[in-house]
Amino acid sequence: MGVNSTARIASLCLQLAEKGIEGVFISQTENRCYLSGFDGSDGYLILTAKNAILATDFRYIEQSKQQAPDFEVFQITGKVEEWFPRITSQLGIKNLGFESGQVTYAFHRQLSTALEKAGSKLELVPIEGLVESLRIVKSPEEIEFIARAADISDIAIADIKEKVRPGMTELDVAWEIERFMRENGSQPIPFEVIAQSGPNSAMPHARPSERRISEGEPILIDIGAKVNGYASDITRTFCIGTPDAMFKKIYDIVLGAQLAALSLVKEGMTGEYADNLARIIISEAGYGDKFGHSLGHGVGLAVHESPRLGPNSTDVLKSGMVFSIEPGIYLPGWGGVRIEDLVTLEKGEIRVLSKAPKSAK
Ligand code: ZN
Ligand code: ZN
Repeated sequence: MGVNSTARIASLCLQLAEKGIEGVFISQTENRCYLSGFDGSDGYLILTAKNAILATDFRYIEQSKQQAPDFEVFQITGKVEEWFPRITSQLGIKNLGFESGQVTYAFHRQLSTALEKAGSKLELVPIEGLVESLRIVKSPEEIEFIARAADISDIAIADIKEKVRPGMTELDVAWEIERFMRENGSQPIPFEVIAQSGPNSAMPHARPSERRISEGEPILIDIGAKVNGYASDITRTFCIGTPDAMFKKIYDIVLGAQLAALSLVKEGMTGEYADNLARIIISEAGYGDKFGHSLGHGVGLAVHESPRLGPNSTDVLKSGMVFSIEPGIYLPGWGGVRIEDLVTLEKGEIRVLSKAPKSAK
């Protein structure tokens, strides 16, 4: 993959130094990949101002050397108490940060017991959100991967709109979309296809079922593709045949809120302020309590990452961020409408990455 490890690690070490932390132990999958380029599913990074170590087991040794050439690869064998002190004793540091949102209680105990048994004085310090705060602003190369993933999900939306027929089940539709994205250049998709119809579309994130799709009812499709590890995320809602009056009414409100957010969201706003630009339109139409989720979320190596655009979010939007704009209205018993685009902030303004048309049919 060839990521720019050196610059990313340097920024991380700078942030750690400000907090008086001399090294960090990275175990979260996307953070590990972001900092090293190694995309295997198991392994740890141990980083200090002087050392960049990737500790993994036999299965990933060759892959590590290829994907993370800037790292010293350490082969893990045996128990934590055997390998962990062996790595940390040579670092010459007093404390080591660990990702407190990721390391389980049991694993933390193993690490600290290992140090104790080895007579090490190394202190384990919880850190949170440090690597995530680096990942929040994307490089042009990262944005390019996301845009390519968005292109794939766009054509998948166009394709399913062509193919969907009354009588198909939600599962048929979901599989058709997944297959199409894989055949058109997507890596294994970043999240399960959401394909909800009729009353099922009132459940924002339900799983597709055996329910058969009929004419005139909402069909809500929320999908993402993946390119070079980077995800896309798009939702379109439409129906076969003539939509009922309710669909037209709800669709217009959601679309109005979505377009308002797309034209008004700018650099410098907080996530809460941005969210409110769409929320106010839905509330004034009388459906405020039927828009029960946030307006959007960051997208990158993970489908849900920082920033968050929602009530109480103090995240400040900056150029280079990539996030979704996805208002929705959900009416139990009838169904739901959500329209989601993936955007980036470029010179302070929104550039929309997902381009699938928003026609309701
Ligand atoms: Zn989505
Ligand atoms: Zn989303």
